[in-house]
Amino acid sequence: MPNQDNQHNANNNPNNLKLNQSADVTIPNYKSCDSIEITVKPVNKLTIKQYTGMGKKERVQIDIVVNYCKGCELCVAFCPEEVLVMNKETAEVINISRCTKCNICEYLCPDFSISVE
Ligand code: SF4
Ligand code: SF4
Repeated sequence: MPNQDNQHNANNNPNNLKLNQSADVTIPNYKSCDSIEITVKPVNKLTIKQYTGMGKKERVQIDIVVNYCKGCELCVAFCPEEVLVMNKETAEVINISRCTKCNICEYLCPDFSISVE
């Protein structure tokens, strides 16, 4: 049985996370996030990157379904708070502490790959 601590802290680089791993991330590329937890979850054969942390006003969770994201960059271009960036072909959260939960990214995504709650 895998050691949960190892699974949780196995890697502090979110790009190297494997399924079922999560990490509390504090890395230089992440601008003003005090703390962001990123979990990679397999759900019905989909891979979901789940980012949780404190937004501007309240706690926020942003889920990105990696399999659905086609890298169109709409969410990145229209997020008014520069919360998102492209990492190769997939959107990712870089600055969750600025998220206002306006849901613009969710409304604009043509592939229903990003959700905010
Ligand atoms: S909910 Fe609004 S502020 Fe948060 S990531 Fe989406 S577009 Fe940006
Ligand atoms: S709008 Fe949707 S498909 Fe386009 S980059 Fe963002 S998450 Fe991916």
